[in-house]
Amino acid sequence: MSSLRIQNLSKKFGKHSAIHNTTWHAQRGEIVCLLGHSGCGKTTMLRLIAGLESPSSGQISFGDRTLWSHQQNIAAEQRNIGLVFQDYALFPHLNIFENVKFGLTHLNKQQQHQITHDVLAHVSLSQHAKKYPHTLSGGEQQRVALARALAPKPDVLLMDEPFSNLDRRLRDRIRKDTIGILREIGTTTVIVTHDPEEALQIADQIILMHEGEIIQIGTPKQLYETPSSLFSAEYFSTMNQIPCIFEHEQLKSTCGHLHFNIEKMTTLSVQPIHGQEYLFCVRPYHVSLSLTQETADYFAVTVISNEYLGHQQSIDVQIDHTAHIIRVQGIFSCPTQIGQSLFIQFNLTQSFIFSKQSVTN
Ligand code: ATP
Repeated sequence: MSSLRIQNLSKKFGKHSAIHNTTWHAQRGEIVCLLGHSGCGKTTMLRLIAGLESPSSGQISFGDRTLWSHQQNIAAEQRNIGLVFQDYALFPHLNIFENVKFGLTHLNKQQQHQITHDVLAHVSLSQHAKKYPHTLSGGEQQRVALARALAPKPDVLLMDEPFSNLDRRLRDRIRKDTIGILREIGTTTVIVTHDPEEALQIADQIILMHEGEIIQIGTPKQLYETPSSLFSAEYFSTMNQIPCIFEHEQLKSTCGHLHFNIEKMTTLSVQPIHGQEYLFCVRPYHVSLSLTQETADYFAVTVISNEYLGHQQSIDVQIDHTAHIIRVQGIFSCPTQIGQSLFIQFNLTQSFIFSKQSVTN
């Protein structure tokens, strides 16, 4: 059941195209993450949906109701959309109870009181009802902002980087609690983030953006395991990249020393064309290291740097007789000191090839 629909939406600020012809939708109760680097248009997208900014063209609808089109513009306060800002935007002169009650003035006093009471209980803040925002911790303030946005029972909840002001340890817990509450209530939620791990952890659907355009839409698993472009792949981790040419059904590195059997590459997003150049890409976690050459697809390398990361090691190796440096990350039982001769094997079922011409398609 589709609820929020964004169709061919564009927004220009003067000549600058902040959002360019984007189409996506969210199912009822889904958590959608708008993911992308700074300036790609995530906040603008939220502001257009909220009605705080007017689109240049396109359509925004919820269920059967058109919220914005060239013919129709429902005012922000009539859209039944909740907003949680990055800085929470709590009213400093109102206590927590009054902050949460703020958006309920269309109801009678008893209903206002009951709903505020219930929603504060839901976010475990009942005992703080009489306190003022500045006396609460960052995590508690975040929950007040969430309670205030949820109290009017919005059709859609929009959250702009809601966890970025929290320190790392607190962030994981607050994020888990918040997502738990949202899933329980079943509110359709759009969360803006630039943090790939956060999006992978919380989203049902990720919308990856770049320079106002959508690069890829999919589940976290789809984006991580079948990226449609080098941009998508690199957003989630460093990628080892080896320039190749496709000849005689073989993907050969341009330095001639490596070749890859594309039949083993189950994640191909392009069908390679004879004579064309590609980038063979693999994440550092999908390269294995060993002391011996177990099969013909192991390549001789020399360790050139070695970093201890606590939970794992990050090792750079140079493929012998080439200039290719490959990063390998994981837990290794073989010796990995600088100068050590080893062999690497690429996990072809987790490798990708992308066109050399463009990083985004
Ligand atoms: P961040 O993660 O840094 O918040 P973002 O992805 O949310 O970035 P937006 O704030 O949506 O990006 O901005 C997208 C582009 O539109 C940027 O180039 C920005 O400078 C521009 N922009 C946003 N709002 C305005 C405005 N009111 N007037 C002019 N340009 C704007």
